[in-house]
Amino acid sequence: MTDLLFGQSYYLRFDPKLWQAMQPYPPLGTLYAAAYLRRRGYDVALFDAMLAASEAEWEAALRRHRPRFAVLYEDNFNYLSKMCLLRMRQAAFTMIEMARAQGCIVIVAGSDATDHAEAYLRRGADFVLLGEGEYTLAELLDRLSGRTDTPFAAIAGLAYRREDGTPVRNPRRPDIKDVDGLPFPAWDLVDVERYRRIWYERHGYFSMNMVTTRGCPYHCNWCAKPIWGQRYNARSPENVVAELNGSRRPIGPTTSGLPMTSSASNPAGGRVSPSWSRPTMPVCPSNV
Ligand code: SF4
Repeated sequence: MTDLLFGQSYYLRFDPKLWQAMQPYPPLGTLYAAAYLRRRGYDVALFDAMLAASEAEWEAALRRHRPRFAVLYEDNFNYLSKMCLLRMRQAAFTMIEMARAQGCIVIVAGSDATDHAEAYLRRGADFVLLGEGEYTLAELLDRLSGRTDTPFAAIAGLAYRREDGTPVRNPRRPDIKDVDGLPFPAWDLVDVERYRRIWYERHGYFSMNMVTTRGCPYHCNWCAKPIWGQRYNARSPENVVAELNGSRRPIGPTTSGLPMTSSASNPAGGRVSPSWSRPTMPVCPSNV
């Protein structure tokens, strides 16, 4: 039994074109949230939809972990989380129903849920996190688990339903400016070997994801916009290098991309170049 089961609803298998391309990346945004909640003292587990066959695997994970809280936390660093959006939204709705059927409190976070919180609440989510979710999620869980008695109405960045069913959106929470203050992603929750095997078999090398900034300065109205608007916050070069060199990052990629990073937004100014890295990769159309 675990406190929180994290999941996300981007299934590569439901995206025929990208299933064909087969360049899977673990859900980095979800791993950041899991690491933060773990630091706050919660026991966390992960369901990784990226390589899952269908929502039935989520249901199996719910039975295995028996969480009190089911958290669908989309990977907002990957623009693919908005590809085939209607199919992935449908998957999220199915996952919400499955979690509720097993008695979980259901919390949803991500670009689509931020834009369409009421739709997710109507389909059974108990709470939606608007914008960046880590701090809001921690404050909400502290309240729900009895650590605090903060009223829901006082939790910035939260959407929920009043007792009469009326949806409520609290004011948004400011972006996280001190990105260095967040723990590194909880890579230990991912089956890295499975990703490695797929990459080597299909492409002859292994590629992993990493972010140096949160947000996006470009004008397109896509993945990052509901969360950060047309802004971004950067990690320090020292913090990026510490993660690259750290023991918690899975070892062995032969390439590493820095998604949502360009010559304009890379705080390291391109100076971080270990022998196995590439400065950018086409995770976002702006980098192609
Ligand atoms: S330009 Fe920005 S908002 Fe648009 S897909 Fe790329 S990262 Fe996302």
